Amino acid sequence: MEEKYRILNQYFGYSSFRDGQEALIDAQLAGRDVFGIMPTGGGKSLCYQIPALLLDGITLVVSPLISLMKDQVASLKKAGVPAAFLNSSLSTEQARQVYKNLLSNQYRILYIAPERLATEGFLALARKLKISLLAVDEAHCISQWGQDFRPSYLRIVTFLNALGYRPVVSAFTATATVQVREDVERILELRDPLRVITGYDRPNLRFEVRKPKNKPAALLELVRSRKEKSGIVYCSTRKEVEKVCQMLQDNGFPATRYHAGLTEKERRENQDRFLYDECTVMAATNAFGMGIDKSNVGYVIHYNMPQSMEAYYQEAGRAGRDGEPADCILLFAPKDIETARFLIQHPSENEELSEAERRQITAQALARLDKMEGYCKTTGCLRAYILDYFGERHREKCGNCGNCDRDFTETDITTQAKMILSCVARMHERLGYFMGISTVIQVLRGKEDKRILSLGLDKLSTYGLMKTVSQEKLRGMVECLIDEGYLRTDPEHRGLILMARAGDVLFHGEAVKMRVAGHGAPAKPKPADPGEEEELFAALKALRMGLAQRDRIPAYIVFNNATLQDMARKRPTTMEAFLEVSGVGKYKAEQYGKVFLEEIRKFLDKESLR
Ligand code: ADP
Ligand code: MG
Ligand code: ZN
Repeated sequence: MEEKYRILNQYFGYSSFRDGQEALIDAQLAGRDVFGIMPTGGGKSLCYQIPALLLDGITLVVSPLISLMKDQVASLKKAGVPAAFLNSSLSTEQARQVYKNLLSNQYRILYIAPERLATEGFLALARKLKISLLAVDEAHCISQWGQDFRPSYLRIVTFLNALGYRPVVSAFTATATVQVREDVERILELRDPLRVITGYDRPNLRFEVRKPKNKPAALLELVRSRKEKSGIVYCSTRKEVEKVCQMLQDNGFPATRYHAGLTEKERRENQDRFLYDECTVMAATNAFGMGIDKSNVGYVIHYNMPQSMEAYYQEAGRAGRDGEPADCILLFAPKDIETARFLIQHPSENEELSEAERRQITAQALARLDKMEGYCKTTGCLRAYILDYFGERHREKCGNCGNCDRDFTETDITTQAKMILSCVARMHERLGYFMGISTVIQVLRGKEDKRILSLGLDKLSTYGLMKTVSQEKLRGMVECLIDEGYLRTDPEHRGLILMARAGDVLFHGEAVKMRVAGHGAPAKPKPADPGEEEELFAALKALRMGLAQRDRIPAYIVFNNATLQDMARKRPTTMEAFLEVSGVGKYKAEQYGKVFLEEIRKFLDKESLR
């Protein structure tokens, strides 16, 4: 058996590679730089961890969040990999110990904070080591175009230049935009890297957008029906996080919170509570989550619309990393658009950008916001919308999203569309500029508003033309015309702009169809198969919880849900059979095999008595 398969099996307990992993591993082993672009949960870590175990020197892993290195290193140690981390959370004494062990070649992998890399102390040490591979995780942090720009990532290059020799350099990210990709390759000075971009689809995630009248009630209901799972609720502001967390706690849910306004200590504690399943719900801003690989997150709810599809997919993607079915639900309200717009126009002041750069970044962010809004409003397949955005081919309907499950009825609104479009055109003729949606609606409904009268808009032939249509319905039609590309909102001035395509409807007889959601509630996600498998699964979970508490590690580091599920399905009774379970490697089998086998035998005995 090829070495890399042995490692995959022995340390990680898996029998096959996922999309992209093998090619990336082979290239690094052959001494070539690589750039891996895979979605969150795609399995990027293995791509550098396996070479680390096969190359003869040490592998450095640069990762942005020091609070998470601990977790990753704990996970590796559990799998039998000698690993350590170096960051500011270590005491001087602890750091000294790590330095000592490094010099005596005790580790295969060292996680290191980018700030540390280029310090004189570490450089002096590094020159004495044989670094075979430098892996840059979350590599998009090096790009100013991404939301997560970290100036300290630029130190990686300083380090490489000062090192005196050049290890293989590999970069990994889930961010796919072309600009960020180009930045990563250029700034990191990757040499003829093997680029691997894997499929963006995450079939086990079920996407849904809801537009509840009462968000708090809707959230409580969603969390209540997923009580036994752990989940994240993303909010757009700190204030909202506080409110949501409080509400969840008041209703008896073990919730905690995370945002940049908390002290570092509290953030770490809350994060640990969530990782260790002490709290099952995390209310957080987008400050939470990067690099977190808690694998048993069963749902991600967005209490507010995020600012871009990139952000949304990254955050939602934190659900279901273990491959189990998971829900990604966005609770949308029109007010979210205003909030997002405000946040974009008032960015935090931590970068020294010129006025022109700032304007350009704002304009780009507003364009991304438009696409995000489109996701919330589309009546088409949500997965298709996401994959379109990331430029990937896909089936027309996925059959596993809120919109595919819901039945839509189609109505012909050609006549109404003509009225709306010609009203926009007439208003523009009179004023010389475009007005916003609300004004257009008021004119069509014949409102006797002061401003409308003073602008003389009541003189237009379209004034009051749709008096009998409710405001809500009319707005729905306007939005349909925007979705279909007949109209567009100007992101800066908020004006409703007439697009050339409108001519097809006005003058060339094109029909306009509007899809309206049926009144039936969206289909509930199918419950997992009940029965014995579930009973055993629950017993194994309880055992895992006990072991995790004893060893003070998060439960998923013992085994993740997918592994327990496979165990419940296969019901191994011997060590050989136990090793066949996906996610069970040699070291973990040695540590945990006995107790889990016992639990399974106990279950089988009980079952035979029934
Ligand atoms: P990423 O960093 O790309 O978001 P991770 O490296 O954290 O993803 O991996 C996500 C999950 O997938 C982890 O639980 C990991 O153990 C699992 N995984 C990775 N590779 C494989 C594989 N070849 N077979 C099965 N599970 C895998
Ligand atoms: Mg990762
Ligand atoms: Zn779909």
